[in-house]
Amino acid sequence: MTAARLAVLDSLAAGEHRAVDEIARIVRDRLGAASLQAIYNILETLAAAGLVRRIEPIGHPARYESRVADNHHHLVCRECGSIRDVDCATGEPPCLSPADAAGYLVDEAEVTYWGLCPRCQKKDVEAHSQLQDVTAPARSEGGER
Ligand SMILES: [Zn+2]
Ligand SMILES: [Zn+2]
Repeated sequence: MTAARLAVLDSLAAGEHRAVDEIARIVRDRLGAASLQAIYNILETLAAAGLVRRIEPIGHPARYESRVADNHHHLVCRECGSIRDVDCATGEPPCLSPADAAGYLVDEAEVTYWGLCPRCQKKDVEAHSQLQDVTAPARSEGGER
């Protein structure tokens, strides 16, 4: 396995769901130069080998994760696009059965739970209280995401 491939895999530690540009930044920190196209190619190869999984929440950039083949689902924040893993509801795929399978042999149900993450819920509350108190000093947002 090449150093670049290893660096890509390492950037996807358990529980991480990263976009390509984020992965590229991490890989560059470690290896120096690495083109976005090279990272894409590596991710596609790893995905084809079943080592990473691509998630594509509608309206947000595709993310990659290294937790594969356990039929887990995702919580996605509508506002900031943050993603959290949720275990399969029943522990066995497919954990949802269609009302009518129409003769299809169903082996997987991809479930995305959409909503507001705790941070964005808090931000909403703060935004509202700032509207009421216009003299409140603007707060700078720190943190990684
Ligand atoms: Zn959010
Ligand atoms: Zn996941």
